[in-house]
Amino acid sequence: MLTLTCPYCGVAACETELSPGGEAHLKRFGPGSSDDDFEAYLFLRPNVKGVHFERWRHAMGCGKWFLAARDTATLEVFGTYSAQTTEPPPGIVEAIRAKRPDWSPT
Ligand SMILES: [Zn+2]
Repeated sequence: MLTLTCPYCGVAACETELSPGGEAHLKRFGPGSSDDDFEAYLFLRPNVKGVHFERWRHAMGCGKWFLAARDTATLEVFGTYSAQTTEPPPGIVEAIRAKRPDWSPT
């Protein structure tokens, strides 16, 4: 079972207490963008096996959105952090590189 610690209230919540929100750190395309960029923003996701950044909501707790870095194959969690960040914090990147030396952000 997946357990994530909410960075706001500090509760270690199992996945039944959380709501998934999809991929984190998406680059948004809106009016004025090309049709291909907008289509990719709406529909195309990489479906990563390995390190992945996701949005989660602590639905049965404080109700706030946060981001998590985890391995989709092993459910290993590298950390959680505020949803108001545009890229993974250095501490999260270091935690990932410590356990996955060959990993690089895409
Ligand atoms: Zn919370």
